[in-house]
Amino acid sequence: MMREDSPSRNPPDRAVFERKAKELGFLRVGFSPAEAPPHLDAFLEWIAAGRHAGMHWMASHADLRRHPAALLEGCRTVISLAYPYSPRKPVTTDRFEAARFTEPRLPDYHDRLRKHARPLLDLLRSWDPRSRNRICVDSAPILERSFALRAGVGFIGKNNLLIVPGYGSYVFLLEILTTIPLKPTLSTPPKDHCGPCNRCIEACPSGALSGPRLFDASLCLSYRTIECRDPLGADAAEAASGCFFGCDVCQEVCPFNPIAVTEDPCLPDAADILAMDAEAFATRFGTSAFARAGLEKIKGNLLAVMPSESARRRG
Ligand code: SF4
Ligand code: SF4
Repeated sequence: MMREDSPSRNPPDRAVFERKAKELGFLRVGFSPAEAPPHLDAFLEWIAAGRHAGMHWMASHADLRRHPAALLEGCRTVISLAYPYSPRKPVTTDRFEAARFTEPRLPDYHDRLRKHARPLLDLLRSWDPRSRNRICVDSAPILERSFALRAGVGFIGKNNLLIVPGYGSYVFLLEILTTIPLKPTLSTPPKDHCGPCNRCIEACPSGALSGPRLFDASLCLSYRTIECRDPLGADAAEAASGCFFGCDVCQEVCPFNPIAVTEDPCLPDAADILAMDAEAFATRFGTSAFARAGLEKIKGNLLAVMPSESARRRG
């Protein structure tokens, strides 16, 4: 029997890890050293300027973002993974829209991705049974786009999102922190590929993007319709143009994403959603991203966007 402190029979092999990740549906994998992320100073300045709006956890956990070892003691490697979500836009039968990442037919991505990644933890443990490993899906205080950039998974566009060349930005990001030292994928982070394009900045309907990567969450419709607990004001509701949950405008115009917008009529009529009680909502939306936001938030958003959108449709 192999003792716990005996050498592993399967030495760490990045190619084996990448193959396994791809079998599990991950699109891109990259490895980076556990060190301060490239955009730490810019992030801390962004927080100091208050552009994180009501996302107070970002400020209170800012120190944890300085180094991955704050999240996993002895961390040696950050493994970044991109998982694709559908490029089809979810719409109600009367064509009110939600952001693509919500994938209303599926459970919320936080738990779903964590489950997808578990076999990768098994693989790491098979290399070193004493290793410590931690999966982070959006909820942990880590600069995930920065690490994904450092690991060569993609580049950060002027819309502040991670873009995977050859696929686009309709991706979830996940990190695995590990105490196993693995060779970095790249020696230096890749350059961005936006060039002279400014489409996302020009198209942002609320002014949340005031320049390349200059992002103000307090103005962003995605923040306003999901995390923000305040009701959607009239200006924001009008800017949302019928999208009642999230916003994909700065992704839809990006040439790295599919040009044609295809709709997925997977949501009930807006009036049916407004008529739901808690039980009907739980039955219909289960553990989806909608359930995570809650019925009251969804109803409030719908009630806010419907009048201006209906007026716009009447011309
Ligand atoms: S998600 Fe919408 S509101 Fe937010 S920055 Fe992008 S285009 Fe602007
Ligand atoms: S729309 Fe243009 S500027 Fe914005 S992220 Fe995409 S390529 Fe970059």
